[in-house]
Amino acid sequence: MAKKVLKFGGTSVGSIKRILHAAKIIKKEHDNGNKLIVVVSAMAGTTNNLIEHSKGISKKFNKRELDVLLTSGEQVTSALIAGALNDLGVKSKSWLNWQIPIITEGEHSNARIIHMNIKNINDYISSGGIAVVPGFQGVSKSGDITSIGRGGSDATAVAIAKIFQTDSCEIYTDVDGVYSSDPNKIPLAKKIDKISYEEMLELSSLGAKVMQSSAVQSAMMGDIPIQVKSTFTEREGTEIINQDNIDYTKAVTGVAYSKDDAKITLLGVEDKPGVAADVFEPLSRNQINVDMVIQNISTDGKKTDITFTTKRQDSKNAISLIETNKKIKYEKMYMNDKVSKISIVGAGMVATPGITFKMFRSLADANINLLAISTSEIKISVIIDEKFTIDAVKKLHKTFKLD
Ligand code: ASP
Ligand code: MG
Repeated sequence: MAKKVLKFGGTSVGSIKRILHAAKIIKKEHDNGNKLIVVVSAMAGTTNNLIEHSKGISKKFNKRELDVLLTSGEQVTSALIAGALNDLGVKSKSWLNWQIPIITEGEHSNARIIHMNIKNINDYISSGGIAVVPGFQGVSKSGDITSIGRGGSDATAVAIAKIFQTDSCEIYTDVDGVYSSDPNKIPLAKKIDKISYEEMLELSSLGAKVMQSSAVQSAMMGDIPIQVKSTFTEREGTEIINQDNIDYTKAVTGVAYSKDDAKITLLGVEDKPGVAADVFEPLSRNQINVDMVIQNISTDGKKTDITFTTKRQDSKNAISLIETNKKIKYEKMYMNDKVSKISIVGAGMVATPGITFKMFRSLADANINLLAISTSEIKISVIIDEKFTIDAVKKLHKTFKLD
């Protein structure tokens, strides 16, 4: 008998039929003798619709009321799941954020869970009941309803696993696990059985949107193992766990890509202390995230070239900030927004020599030019021409035997 958190995402509770299906999965876990806390998202699309409603009233809709509005979606699914379980003859009850309570800190729309009262729910599940808890919701110390960021039901599940010290945290979703790349676009991508938190964070920040990144981050900090499972198939899912518990037979675990990058190059920038800071400070003040940065000395040694990448949507703004920046002098500026970033990610890289070379050679063989390169301990990223994206990802799958 185990104490478990089962979390169901928006598509898993996206219709009444699906809610009935999820209830059957939960009942089966209960029949196997497990003590269950179920966390639910809102029905798929609901939160977006509610946001549209608020925009219909005002673009500056009151933040406190926005949280009251948005968290209502999770209240609906909590009641429907608990009601469906009752209908299947199982004792179950929903507990809203303020009833538990789930105490949060921080601003509206982006609060953090800091505390939960565990006694009542623990008593209830020990007496054979299934507790159903809405994800995404919290309540501030002063009693206002809060929400914990888009996709926040994952974070609720992880926080419950930690605070209630459950034996497992199972994330039921519409895919059957984490893949070495997006399986819809790259059919030869393979499901990963075990992945470390660090690798998962790299892959999700790079586009493998299976779980909310900040939830993975808190799971990593609390060393809470996560199982990603499909609501719709019986196939084994993916475990997200501590790197020490993984036997790396392959250097590379996954290949991620993003197609919304832009590359900006400043040629002939004065080479003196503080120049890079002068270039990037205004960008950061304007919330423009700079991803890769490459600086090289130009031939005369007195000047330098700086290349960096940003999100495509920020590139125009970045350029105008540089053009109006009186602190820096440069000869020319180029921008290319038809680029994509390809990254190989793998904790096994640390112990395997020659991975960088292998990646570059493999792309060169496919006649793909590298426009920028950056490396970290478990990731190597390159910027390439956007039109080669899928080819490059496929090629790297073959090179690193992920197919
Ligand atoms: N319903 C919320 C959202 O759409 C939270 C979640 O689904 O995890 O962001
Ligand atoms: Mg989600």
